[in-house]
Order: sequence, then C-alpha cells, then structure tokens
Amino acid sequence: MEKIGFIGLGIMGKPMAKNLIKAGHELVVFDTAEAPAEELVSFGAERGASAADVASKAGKVIITMLPDSKDVRDAVSGPKGILEGCRAGQTVIDMSSISPIVSRELEKELAGRGAEMIDAPVSGGQEKAEQGTLAIMAGGRDIVFEGVKDILACMGATVTLVGEIGAGQITKLVNQIIVGVNISAVAEGMAFARKAGADPRRVFEAIRKGLAGSQCLEDKAPRMFEGRYAPGFRVALHIKDLWNVLETSRAIKGSVPLSAQVIEMMIALANEGHEGLDHAALGLYYEKLNGVGLGEDKA
Ligand code: NAD
Repeated sequence: MEKIGFIGLGIMGKPMAKNLIKAGHELVVFDTAEAPAEELVSFGAERGASAADVASKAGKVIITMLPDSKDVRDAVSGPKGILEGCRAGQTVIDMSSISPIVSRELEKELAGRGAEMIDAPVSGGQEKAEQGTLAIMAGGRDIVFEGVKDILACMGATVTLVGEIGAGQITKLVNQIIVGVNISAVAEGMAFARKAGADPRRVFEAIRKGLAGSQCLEDKAPRMFEGRYAPGFRVALHIKDLWNVLETSRAIKGSVPLSAQVIEMMIALANEGHEGLDHAALGLYYEKLNGVGLGEDKA
C-alpha cells in the first residue's frame, strides 16, 4: 500500500493515525510537538521533518488534523508547508474543523500545484477516534472522494460526501450550531425548572421521550445534574467552531442570532477558567445566572 502522510497528532489525530496503521497502511507523520510524533514512530510510522517533507515522502494522500484555520494554512502554505513538497496527483484531506472559506482558498492554492483537496471534518470525540467510529462529513470533487473514501473508512463509522469543497466544513458548523443551541436550551430549561420549584431530574424523566428529547438532552442533562464536566468536547473548541460560524455567516451576509448568543455564554464560561471543561458546562453558566444548582437546590 502507498504511504499516507499524516500531519497533526493531537487528541484526535493520534488515534486516527494509529487506526490507519492498524488497517495496514504505512504512515509518514509530522507534528510540531516532539512527543506525539515519537509515539507514532514507536507504533511503526516514519517521522517526517516538516509538512513539506511528509508531502514529498507520501504517496497519493496527505491528511491534516490540526486545531484551526491558521494552523492548516501554516501547514499547507507556510514555510516548509505541504505546497513546498507536494506534487500533481496527490490529495490533501483536511480533517480539522476550520472555516469553509479557508478550505476553498487552500484548494485553489493546491490546484496550482496540480494537487487536489478534500475537506473532511469529523464529529465524535477522542473515544470515537480511538474506536474508528467517527462521523466523517466531506466536501470535494466526486472522483477525488471516490479515490480516498476507503482510507477515510478506516477512521469513521460513516463517511458522507455532502457536496463541493467546503461542504464538509459547512456541515460540521451546522452540527456545532445545533449542538450548542441544544445544550444551552437544556441548561436554560433545567435552571428554569429549579427556579420555578420543580426538580430538574424529574422534569428530565417526564420530557425525555417527547418532542424535547434529543441526544444532547440525554447526554448533557445528566452531566449537568451530576456536575460531571470533564471533557468530552471542550468549551474552547466549541468557541472556535462558533467563531467560524460567525465569520462565515458575515462573509455571506447570513444571520445567526442563536449562535451569536451561545458564543457569548461560552466566552463568559472561558473567562471564568472553564474553557477546558465539556461544553455541558453551560449548566454552570445557568446555575450562576439564576443562583440555583441544577443537581440539587443550592437555596
Ligand atoms: P489538539 O490540539 O489535541 O491537536 C492538534 C495537534 O496539531 C497538536 O499535536 C499540535 O502540536 C499539532 N500542530 C499544531 N499546529 C501544527 C502545525 N502547523 N504542523 C504540525 N502540527 C501542528 O486538537 P484535537 O483535539 O486533536 O483537534 C483537532 C481538530 O479536530 C480540531 O479542529 C478540532 O476542532 C476537531 N475536533 C476535535 C474533537 C475533540 O473532541 N477533541 C472532536 C471533533 C473534532
């Protein structure tokens, strides 16, 4: 099998890269941090000296899994970036969650070198990355996607081509809008219940199978009752994603009033030192706002 390039070996990238090796692929990897790259070497990968070096040593596919737009831009078009090492016929699959506008810009830059690009962000956290059961939402040309979807399937339970380049990122942002608004609605409802004199746990039992039911309600309400805020998906990452929603929305003159509200709440949480908590910590925000406890009455 051809060697796959993998750049960005953090919470998500490391287990994803390991799953590719487990599936029988050879890997050449790079991370600006020493430790994760060394760990992958002990797992059988070759270590590249830079993103450019990874691109020149990789076969058809180079995967990036980096924090945000700026990092992907650095890895693609910065000094010693992919553009310096790539060649015609290669495909960069960016699996980071970044701005769809940046994905489209990078696709054009890569096209200048004859290389293709697929955006393929994921949903599901560290555990699903480890299990290889991520939901992968992709954007790009059909024919290019067909050529790489078996590789993506080594990391995900579902791999869906949504549309042209950027469509994967747009889908991911839609996911983050719906999840962020849903979690804040759960927190608001439960704080209202407590303040109005009903036990949130019993409210939860009463409504969970009705129209208000959702996976967010199921996963996050118990966390709020128990004060169980270890991540999961960190507040800091959700702020980043909603920031990408607002920026993209402004560029297209969209209107996203709920996202604007939720990011304000999340920034307030981060300013209190909670940016590393699970985004269910919106429960803490509402507890403070209302002077009540969601798990037990503080009054
Ligand atoms: P992370 O911060 O744990 O890992 C990022 C890695 O990239 C780090 O090891 C860092 O050293 C490396 N890096 C940064 N800039 C680099 C560069 N220019 N070249 C090479 N390496 C570089 O982040 P993560 O949690 O793995 O998230 C990665 C992406 O996946 C983000 O866009 C995030 O929003 C998305 N995501 C995360 C989760 C989650 O639960 N953590 C879930 C779904 C999607």
